[in-house]
Amino acid sequence: MKMSGNGCPPNYRSCDLRGMPLAKLKNIQAKLREEIEEVEIVLYQETANKCMKCEEKNRSVTLVPCNHYVVCDTCATTQRECPYCQTPVTPKA
Ligand SMILES: [Zn+2]
Ligand SMILES: [Zn+2]
Repeated sequence: MKMSGNGCPPNYRSCDLRGMPLAKLKNIQAKLREEIEEVEIVLYQETANKCMKCEEKNRSVTLVPCNHYVVCDTCATTQRECPYCQTPVTPKA
């Protein structure tokens, strides 16, 4: 994952880290943990809205008959089964 802009962690490599004071290393570790937590929260939220099939478009279709709201309208037309529960879906007319 490529990140840019403010507040993003620089690319630490073990050769840069070796010899650093423990306090500084722990500080870096704590900062990176915070970054990871933020990424995980956003990733979770984004995943919750994205189509399970293409992961690009937002979910917009409720599959029949399982009623799972997991795919976008594009994928819904080509899905033969629900990507969440594998129930065969009734194609939309
Ligand atoms: Zn899709
Ligand atoms: Zn389903």
